Amino acid sequence: MDNMGSPMIAEPEAKGVSRRDFIKVCSVAAAAVGLPAWAGEKMAENVGKKKPSVVWLHFQECTGCTESLLRTSHPDVGSLILDLVSVDYHETLFAAAGKQIEAALDDAKKAGGYVLVVEGAIPKKEDGIYCIVGGKKATDSLVECAEKAAAIICIGSCSSWGGVPSAAPNPTEAVGAPEILKAKGINKPVITLPGCPANPYNLLGTVLQFATFGTLPALDEKGRPKFAYARVIHEDCPRRPHFDAGRFAQVFGDEGHRNGWCLYKLGCKGPQTHANCSLLDFCEVPGAWPVGIGHPCVGCTEQGIVFNKSIYENLPIEKPTAPMAYPAIHPEHGVVGSSPVAVGLGGAVIGALVGAGYVASKKIAESDKGEKKE
Ligand code: SF4
Repeated sequence: MDNMGSPMIAEPEAKGVSRRDFIKVCSVAAAAVGLPAWAGEKMAENVGKKKPSVVWLHFQECTGCTESLLRTSHPDVGSLILDLVSVDYHETLFAAAGKQIEAALDDAKKAGGYVLVVEGAIPKKEDGIYCIVGGKKATDSLVECAEKAAAIICIGSCSSWGGVPSAAPNPTEAVGAPEILKAKGINKPVITLPGCPANPYNLLGTVLQFATFGTLPALDEKGRPKFAYARVIHEDCPRRPHFDAGRFAQVFGDEGHRNGWCLYKLGCKGPQTHANCSLLDFCEVPGAWPVGIGHPCVGCTEQGIVFNKSIYENLPIEKPTAPMAYPAIHPEHGVVGSSPVAVGLGGAVIGALVGAGYVASKKIAESDKGEKKE
């Protein structure tokens, strides 16, 4: 026990990572899935006792999601992320190959009850021609492993909905794992974490929540955890004040671009892209995401945007939202009654919600007119 009365976590300390850093990683993972800080400590303690088993399959993909998981800024913390879970099968990370690695997969399947992580799209065309691993067709591997899994997580856009392998003309008829699993009658919880790559903490938080509390995060209609995908990037973007003020970079390298102004006119897809990139640092590096380094969001989580729309094409702003700083109407001030003042106040708030987007759109239009005149 340590001096706080908590069980010591021997393994992280053996790796030269302090208990404090270890709990910090778990707390970030807990916060990522919307759990309170104490849940991170609970996850850390639980991990010391039993690691959740993970079987990780690769199909049509670039391995970018795995690479992102490995590229944490602090190497010891990076290795810890992998040690927080027991990776019982992973074609990229395993030193073994051939029959040895296939035996590891067979053992994992016999034990069952693991979290199956799927990376990569599944080719439907002429089933078995385009993606064979260990002598097995992608569809067969997926279904066999899914049958023995407790839960299935599709990491990245490729496994969630097809990603880059499904881009037109989609010669292999690549689709996401959920489509195959549904067609094969697999009735298990399937979570999708689209992104190119997905943020490793979204995966870690989901796996640790499942292992510690036996629950899964609330999902939307596409199987995406609401904690990460309920809001569009535009709602929480650090450049949003510039959007609201009508300050836009017009070309790469101009004064606005150098001053960190909004990238909408350079084709930013943030207004239609559901993800938490602006709220959760990738690999503990603040600002290490496209908008953070001055490139417009390409909508990598969204089927129908990335790999379909031109990078520099402007998308309409469909759901104008206001910044989160607008004051609430408190109950102690009474309900909105029928007096002209009360109705006016309520109308002002609703108007603000709709109006912020309208004002910004107007500014865009005005500035466009200005540019045309020039
Ligand atoms: Fe941020 Fe893009 Fe929205 Fe501008 S358009 S505020 S850069 S998300």
